[in-house]
Amino acid sequence: MDQPETAGRAAGGPRRRIAVVGGGIGGLTLANALDESFQVDVFEKRATGAREGFGLNVQPAAVACLDRIGLAAGLVASGIETRAHRYVDHHGTQLHEEPRGIAAGEATPQVSVLRDELRGALLGGLGPHVRLVGDRTVDDAEVARWAGLPDATGTTPEDPSGDAAYDLVVGADGINSVVRTHVAGPREIRFGPMIMWRGITPMPRFADGRTFHLVSDPHGRRLVIYPVSAAADAAGESLLNWVLLVPTPVTDDSALALSDDDARDHLTGLVRDWDLPQLDMPRLVRGARYLRADRLRDLDPLDVWSRGKFVLLGDAAHPMYPIGAQGASQAIVDGWALAAELNAGRDRGEDPVAAAARFESARRPVVGRIVLANREMNQRELVSRGLGTTEKSAELAETAARYRLAVAGKDAPR
Ligand SMILES: Cc1cc2nc3c(=O)[nH]c(=O)nc-3n(C[C@H](O)[C@H](O)[C@H](O)COP(=O)(O)OP(=O)(O)OC[C@H]3O[C@@H](n4cnc5c(N)ncnc54)[C@H](O)[C@@H]3O)c2cc1C
Repeated sequence: MDQPETAGRAAGGPRRRIAVVGGGIGGLTLANALDESFQVDVFEKRATGAREGFGLNVQPAAVACLDRIGLAAGLVASGIETRAHRYVDHHGTQLHEEPRGIAAGEATPQVSVLRDELRGALLGGLGPHVRLVGDRTVDDAEVARWAGLPDATGTTPEDPSGDAAYDLVVGADGINSVVRTHVAGPREIRFGPMIMWRGITPMPRFADGRTFHLVSDPHGRRLVIYPVSAAADAAGESLLNWVLLVPTPVTDDSALALSDDDARDHLTGLVRDWDLPQLDMPRLVRGARYLRADRLRDLDPLDVWSRGKFVLLGDAAHPMYPIGAQGASQAIVDGWALAAELNAGRDRGEDPVAAAARFESARRPVVGRIVLANREMNQRELVSRGLGTTEKSAELAETAARYRLAVAGKDAPR
C-alpha cells in the first residue's frame, strides 16, 4: 500500500507522514480528507470488520463536511433525513417542536444513520495514500517515539526513521485517549448523574418516520428516539435508535452490572407508567437488537489541543455529554478542518505542526462552548421535570434556543 517517496510530493518538499491514532469517525474523516501529498497511517484497535450496531444523528455542519469528501449522498440515501425535533411528555402531549436540517433552512440535511453504515462509507472512501492498520492498540510509549520524544529511560531517538518518524501524530483515539496525556497532561473524566441506556429496535413506523423525539417524565427520565434506516422505512417500518437517560447518583453503578435479561426487566419497570400513543415501550425495550449501558461522562474543556508534533481531535480533545447529539458531528468537522489546514499548508511547504496550531485556534473555543452547553442542557432538562405543561414547554423552547446559539458559536444571554 505504501506509495513511492516521490509520489504526490509537496512543491519541492518531502512527502509528509501523518500517524492517526484511532480509526473512529473523526480519524477516518481526517484520513479521507487529506490529499495524496501526505502518507497517512491510521492505527485502530478494533478489527476492521467489527460492528457497533447502534445509530447516531449527524448534524448539518458535519453532513456538509461529509459532502466535501463525497460521502454525504450515500448516507442520506441509506439513513433518514431528520425533519424536526419534537419534545413530548410520557403521555405523548407535545411540549415543543422545532424544524431541523433542510426544514429549518440549513443548506444540508440533518441525517440519522447506522454507525456501521457511516464507518463503512468512511473506510470505503480511503485513498491509496492511506494505510489502515486494524486490530492494533497503540500505547503511550509508541506515540512518544513516533513524535521523537524521550522514552522512559530518557533516551531520545536521534534520527527517527521508518515507523518512528512522523511529521504529525493525531490523537483521534476517543475519550480515553493515550495521546491526550502528551498534549494536556493527565485529566480526569467527569462522571455525570445519569446512566444512558442505548438500544436499537425494529418497530412499526413511528410517527411520520422522520422526526427525532425527546420524551420526558416527572422522574427526570428522558428518551431520545429516532429512525435510522431508509430500508426499514421503505418496508413501512422504523428501525428506531434510542437512548434512555436515567438519573442515577454517580456513586451507584449497579445498573451497569445487570445481565441482559435483568436490564430489560429493569427498563420496562422504569417506564411502566408511560403511555405514548405511537410507541409500545415494553416492545421497544424487549425487542432491542442490542442493549448497552454507559455512565454519562465528559471532560472540562481543554486549554490546549496541540503540543509539538501532537494534535487532538474528536472525543480525544472534547468528550461531551451526548445530550445534543453533537460529539460525532464535531469529530467529523474536526477531521475535515484539520485536513483543510494541512492540505492548504502543503503548497507552501509548511510544517504540519503550524497547520495543527491553526486548526486548534479555529476549533477549540467553538467546541469548548458546546461541551458546556451540553452540561447546561442536561441540567435544565433535569430541573424542568417538576414543571407543569405550559412552564415546561417554555423552558424546553428556551433551553433548545440557548443550545442552538452555543453550537453557532455565540454566547446565550445569562
Ligand atoms: C449514547 C450515546 C449517543 C450518542 N449519539 C450521538 C449522536 O446522535 N450524534 C453525534 O454526533 N454524536 C453522538 N454521540 C457521541 C459520539 O459517539 C462520539 O462523540 C464520537 O464517536 C466521537 O468520535 P471519535 O472518532 O472522536 O471517537 P471514537 O468514535 O471513540 O473513535 C476512537 C477510535 O479510536 C480507537 N482507539 C482508542 N484507543 C486506541 C488506541 N490506543 N490504539 C488504537 N486505536 C484506539 C477506538 O477503537 C475507536 O475506534 C453519542 C455518544 C453516546 C455515548
